Amino acid sequence: MSKRIRIIEGTWNCTSCDTKGILARHKKCPQCNNPRELTGKESEFDFGGTDAATGKALREGVTDETALELAGAGADWFCAYCGASNRGDQTLCKHCQAERTQDAKALQEEEAADDEHPLRAPPRASSAKKTLGKVALVLGGSLFFCCSGTLIYGLWSTATHDTSGQLVRTEWKRTVFQERFTPVTLEGWQDELHAQPPRMPVNGLGESAGVQNIRGCVSSRRGSRKVADGTERVCSTKTRKKACGTEEKCQTRNKGNGFQEEVCRDVTRYCDESYEDCRNETRYRQEPVYAQKCNYDTYQWKEVARRELSGQSGEPPRWPELSMSPTDRLRREEHYVLHVEYDDDGKKQATFEPKTEQEFLSWKPGQPVSVTVTNGGDIQKLLPR
Ligand SMILES: [Zn+2]
Ligand SMILES: [Zn+2]
Repeated sequence: MSKRIRIIEGTWNCTSCDTKGILARHKKCPQCNNPRELTGKESEFDFGGTDAATGKALREGVTDETALELAGAGADWFCAYCGASNRGDQTLCKHCQAERTQDAKALQEEEAADDEHPLRAPPRASSAKKTLGKVALVLGGSLFFCCSGTLIYGLWSTATHDTSGQLVRTEWKRTVFQERFTPVTLEGWQDELHAQPPRMPVNGLGESAGVQNIRGCVSSRRGSRKVADGTERVCSTKTRKKACGTEEKCQTRNKGNGFQEEVCRDVTRYCDESYEDCRNETRYRQEPVYAQKCNYDTYQWKEVARRELSGQSGEPPRWPELSMSPTDRLRREEHYVLHVEYDDDGKKQATFEPKTEQEFLSWKPGQPVSVTVTNGGDIQKLLPR
């Protein structure tokens, strides 16, 4: 990186005689001979601006030996007695001959830029995948609109309230199923079938279905599997940063005496370059899988008879009677319902289902009750009142 240094001279305005644009090399006004002071912004210099893109000063650089020597003399200081500005390398006030004192005010010379740190770091590669988030957001929004009606109804119907009512009627139903261990022929995959003799139940217990007479095996489709079927080349266009020549970048530092030092360098310029990003992806296809499917003999519990009994308010629940052989088994189901009227003098009706006979028997038709019920009419809690 080649480095080019220029000295830019600022200008100031005399507040005593109102002369504008006096070159910084003059520490006294060329018109009225008044010294440049700290007051009245006389020592705030105008350097004529810089180019926005490069930072390069728009003004010509100084080549004049005297001015260059002045620029290198350090930051100005202001005489504590007469206020005149003086060269940084002088110890006596040029205007009144007073000595530079500790409390004399001075301008600041900015630190020189560090050569180790480039003026501009190369830009980072641009990141992709920004559009994905937007798409998800839009979908989320429409989902909310389409379902909010249902959601509100759902919230209303599950809201509960406590009220009082009356148990008007009770009901029970009991069913007994008679099941027999019955020979059947089933189909199964050969590799999953293991021949085994059946064991008959005794009093409906201890049975084993068994697998017998595996036969008539034929090849059948069992499913499919994914298999690699070559590769395909997948490409997408991406962008990356690429060095494309150089560009000039300048920095200035104030020397605190009406001069600026400008350092310009040629730095690498980066441009967007599009390129094809390609890779080989494995292609897959579905392949059918076949296996041997066979018939075999086994046993299953089959319903051979059922009896049902039901009763209304007051009648105690009973089990139906069934006669059975020793290899059969019985399966029992019981079902209890309480009918409740509540709200508006019993205009609303709902049912409640006790789980056990004991719970069912604790309720008497006609008794007053407290109900916790949803707007949709489901009884959540039922208590005697
Ligand atoms: Zn003047
Ligand atoms: Zn002085």
